[in-house]
Amino acid sequence: MQIKTRLTLLFITIVALTVLISSVFIYISSAEYRASEFYERLEKKTNVLAHVLLDEDEIDLKLLNLLERANPVSLPDEQVQIFDGEGKKVYSSRPGFEIPISKSLKINLNKESELKFSYKLFEVYGVKYKSKAAEYLIFAGAVDKFGFSKLKNLRNILIINFIAIVLIIAIVAWFFSAKALSPISKIIGQVENISENNLNQRLDEGNKTDEIAKLALTFNKMLERLELAFILQKNFVANASHELRTPLTAMTGQLEVLLMNERSIEEYKDKTNSVLDDIRNLSIICNRLLLLAQTNADRKDLNFQNVRADDLLWQIQNEIVKLHPQYNVNVQFIKIPESEDDLTILGNAHLLKTAFNNFIENGCKFSKNNTVNVEFDFDERDILISFKDKGIGISKADLELIFQPFYRTKNALSFPGHGLGLSLTEKIINIHQGKIEVISEPKKFTTFIVSLPKKTKDTH
Ligand code: ADP
Repeated sequence: MQIKTRLTLLFITIVALTVLISSVFIYISSAEYRASEFYERLEKKTNVLAHVLLDEDEIDLKLLNLLERANPVSLPDEQVQIFDGEGKKVYSSRPGFEIPISKSLKINLNKESELKFSYKLFEVYGVKYKSKAAEYLIFAGAVDKFGFSKLKNLRNILIINFIAIVLIIAIVAWFFSAKALSPISKIIGQVENISENNLNQRLDEGNKTDEIAKLALTFNKMLERLELAFILQKNFVANASHELRTPLTAMTGQLEVLLMNERSIEEYKDKTNSVLDDIRNLSIICNRLLLLAQTNADRKDLNFQNVRADDLLWQIQNEIVKLHPQYNVNVQFIKIPESEDDLTILGNAHLLKTAFNNFIENGCKFSKNNTVNVEFDFDERDILISFKDKGIGISKADLELIFQPFYRTKNALSFPGHGLGLSLTEKIINIHQGKIEVISEPKKFTTFIVSLPKKTKDTH
C-alpha cells in the first residue's frame, strides 16, 4: 500500500474513532438526561396528586378525574393508577387503557417505597404514599414523545456530523499527504532517470533543510562517490590495459624484428634479455594488480596473524640491498621496545612486507643518494614507522593524487615504475586499520609516516 494511502487511512481512523466515541458519549448522556428528567416530571405529578387529594380524609375521585382531564400540562398518553393498602385499585385516569400493574410490582413498591420501570413506550414512576387516613400506591406513566423525538433528532445530527467529518478529513488528508509526499515522488522520478551514462546528474535539493531535502542531499553525496568510483574504475581499466599492452606490443615487435633475418648469437642474447626485462615488468604489474584485487577481499579471508614489524623491515633491508646494491636502507629505533607487543601487528605478513617494501623502494628510487632512513617508533596504541628520503619530493597538489592507481607525478616520469605501488600500499594499510601521512617538499625531502595499531589482547 502506498504511504499516501496509509497516511490517509490512519488519519481517517484516528478522527473517525475520536468523533465516534464523543458522539456515543453525547448520545448516551442525552438519553440518560432525558430519562431522568422525564421520571422527575412523573414524580412531581405523583406528588401533586398525593398532596392535593390523598391528604384529604377521603379521596374525591370525581374531583381527581376532573382535575386530571383539565390539566393543561399533563404528559403525553399520561395515565395514573392509585391502589390502596390492599392493592385494590381506587383510581385510574384512563380506565380500559391501563398499564398492567402486576402483584409483584405492588409488593416491590410496598417494600421500596419508590419504583421506576418502563412498559412498552411508557415510562412509569411508582410511589408509596401515606395519607392521614391510609397508605396508597400511586403509579404514574406516560410516553416521552417529545424527549424521544429530540433524542432521535440528536442521533441523526450526530450521524450526519460523523459522516461529514470523515469525508472532509478523507479529502483533506489525501490532499495533504499527496502534497507532503510529492517531493519524494519527484525524487523517485529523478532517480529513475539516472544511469551509468549520466552519473553527473544531481537531485533537486529543495529547501535544503527538511527531511526530504536531506534525503536528496545524502543521495547526491552518494552519487558523487559513485561517479568518482566509476571514473576511477574506468581510468583503472584503461590504464591497466595500456600498461599490460605496452610491454606485450614491445615484446611482439622485438621478436618479429628478430625473426626477420638471421642474427648473431650476441644479437639473439641482447634481444632475449630485453624481452626478459619486459616480461619481468609485465609480471610485476600482474602481481600488483592481483594483490590489489586481493586487498579488496574480506579481512577474514586474509589470514591475519601476529607479525613482527621490525622483522619485516630487517628482511626488506637484506633483500633490497641484494637486488639493488646501490640502495641504502638505515633502520633506526626511536624508543627501545619494552616487550614484543610494542613490535607486533595483527596482520598479513606478505601484504605488510609489500607495503613497507614499496615505501623503501620509492624512497631509494626517487633520491639521488638512493637512501631511505626508516625510523621505528610506537606509542600506547600504535606502531609508527617513518620512511624518510631526500629525493625529488612531491608538490602539494600531487599529495592527494599519488594514491590513485597509475598516477605518477611529472617529476617521476623519468624513473621506472607503473604508479600502482602506492594505491596498493594504501589499501594494505587501510585493511590493517592503519593510516598514512605524507610530508614533502619538492626537490628536498619526502617522509611517509605509517601508523598501524599494535596487537592487543582483544584484537581478533
Ligand atoms: P611508482 O613508484 O611505480 O611510480 P607508486 O604508486 O609507488 O608508483 O607511486 C606513485 C607516485 O608517487 C610516483 O610515481 C611518484 O610520483 C610519487 N612518489 C611516491 N613515492 C615518492 C617519493 N618517495 N618521493 C617522491 N615521489 C614519490
